[in-house]
Amino acid sequence: MIAEVVFHLPISRGFDYLIPEAWGVSVQPGMRVLAPFGARRLVGYVVDVRASSRIRHLKPLLRRIDDEPLITPVQQGLAQQTAQAYACTRGEVYANMLPAALRVRSSPPQESTAPEHESPPTLTSQQAAVFDAFRAAIVSRRPHTFLLHGVTGSGKTELYLRVIAEALAQGRGGICLVPEIAMTPQTIDRFRRRFGDEVVLWHSRLTARQRGEAWGAMKAGSRRVVVGTRSAVFAPLAAVGCLILDEEHDPSYKQDQTPRYHARDVALARARLEGAVVILGSATPSVESYYEAQRRTYRLVCLTERINQRPMPKVEVIDMRDALAHRHRAVMLSDRLSLALRRAVESQEQAILFLNRRGFARVAQCPACGAVRQCHACSTPMIYHATRQQLLCHYCNRSEPLGDTCPSCDRGYLRLRGLGTERVESELHRLFPGISVARMDTDAMAARESHRRLYDAMTSQQVGVLVGTQMVAKGLDLPQVTFVGVISADTSLNLPDFRAGEHTFDLLTQVAGRAGRGERPGRVLIQTYCPTHYAIQAASHHDYEAFYRAEIAMRQRLGLPPCLRLIELTVQGRKAETVERAAETLTRALKQAIGRRRIHLLGPAPHRVAMVRKTIRWRLVLKARRVAPMLEAIRAVLGETRHFHGCPVVIDVDPL
Ligand SMILES: [Zn+2]
Ligand SMILES: [Zn+2]
Repeated sequence: MIAEVVFHLPISRGFDYLIPEAWGVSVQPGMRVLAPFGARRLVGYVVDVRASSRIRHLKPLLRRIDDEPLITPVQQGLAQQTAQAYACTRGEVYANMLPAALRVRSSPPQESTAPEHESPPTLTSQQAAVFDAFRAAIVSRRPHTFLLHGVTGSGKTELYLRVIAEALAQGRGGICLVPEIAMTPQTIDRFRRRFGDEVVLWHSRLTARQRGEAWGAMKAGSRRVVVGTRSAVFAPLAAVGCLILDEEHDPSYKQDQTPRYHARDVALARARLEGAVVILGSATPSVESYYEAQRRTYRLVCLTERINQRPMPKVEVIDMRDALAHRHRAVMLSDRLSLALRRAVESQEQAILFLNRRGFARVAQCPACGAVRQCHACSTPMIYHATRQQLLCHYCNRSEPLGDTCPSCDRGYLRLRGLGTERVESELHRLFPGISVARMDTDAMAARESHRRLYDAMTSQQVGVLVGTQMVAKGLDLPQVTFVGVISADTSLNLPDFRAGEHTFDLLTQVAGRAGRGERPGRVLIQTYCPTHYAIQAASHHDYEAFYRAEIAMRQRLGLPPCLRLIELTVQGRKAETVERAAETLTRALKQAIGRRRIHLLGPAPHRVAMVRKTIRWRLVLKARRVAPMLEAIRAVLGETRHFHGCPVVIDVDPL
């Protein structure tokens, strides 16, 4: 017998090997084997077992690693489709979905919790109507996709829990995906209270051993409710009834390394294979998903009211140009924001201050020559962090002392400019002596259990003001928070990215949604130098529709997603001239391969951050209505490999 084997390599085809006679017929697709590969021995994945091969003199397999298929037939189908859709290989997808350390044979329970099951609250009439639609779809056992557009605090999570309970009642499992930073103790507790020991967690903070155990429990069917980040979409559950993406607009659902899949599209593919229901939930649906709902590919269902008839918070926009004209210098906190904050603190209510930039100041600039200190390995400014008293590169994590004189001109001394969360924190201590402030950003949250500690400090009222980056915008449900202040709405608005408006609208809506979730109503103040921008206006009026209309008109006019699809090619290398020449030659070759087909080709141009960790990057972008013809043209030029003239080429389908 012959086994066809694929490897964790950028080579898409499979290789045939002899199955040693002594093994009998025990090799099946989905098992891992050790096989000779050139001079090496590699772990590969069996994708087919056949009686014959067209190739003579086959080498025998060396060892069988698994006693039974590790990869389920559904996962094999998903790997095939993912590899095809994202121009990567099945081996790369398998390597991504499997935990590094597998304990397949032993599957002791993860952390065991007593199942003191919680009884579900009564649904509002809006929730009940939406749930009826979900239940009918699940019972039909046919694939369905819903876009659940529910305002912040409208009780989306309760619907997720009910849908999963429905799937379990039918003898099937459920997967609920959440963004990495929403993987908070609060979310986990809620699922555990409802489903007890059925819950299994899947995220990047698990140890290798925990991952192996989680995999074993899912595969054995002993735990059927998966709560996890992106790659949980591949979870080895035997039968899945529902796949939920909470905060479906979140960019963390797209993987930024090979395989560069989007969990939403993998979920849709899996639902088709298993007759499952997909629920995409958000208060700020991605423009892509809302577009599909408008075209009726997805069914749109809405929750327009908060639970318990709580009002949406009142949002006011503060024009910072006034403050600038008044005081002749930029200020961090306007008088209105300071006053509102003081009121909240004095009346024992909690406040959140949001600024989407960590660190103390933005950049270190020399007033004499104007030079900004950049990372030597990445062409991007370094950010000053006061607690470490160092400049830090947010791309490669390199740190350097600030130094006394400017390294460019040797005359001036560097001055810190701009704002970060650390600076806001220290300013608060200056303005409000004795105030208790906590900070939530990737620096402050690096330690294990830091989420749990912060959450406990907030719920027990030990902290008055929480300062944070976009981390505070997601997954936090703190009933005592009545005031939210946005220090600057412009940090995300001014990025050179066509999604800047969408990101700004999402962030403002989500962070505003943290206010007034309890008994007392919420108030939100947004500071900006662009008060008339449609994203800021729409967010201040809680008006998603208005935002979407303005945004989709812009995307249509400029031929941007979702109206057209994009593929981004990045040519990389160490030597600037080699990379530039390869990018130019590749562009010419692609133009030829495209011929008269309706595919736009933009570039080549240096990447926005042209160098990262000393790797030079040039990019070109293909635009067309459909992805398939673009991939054909790329394959015609690159063949089976992802190299061109000695430079690695990264292919990113639907880049974010
Ligand atoms: Zn200088
Ligand atoms: Zn760097």
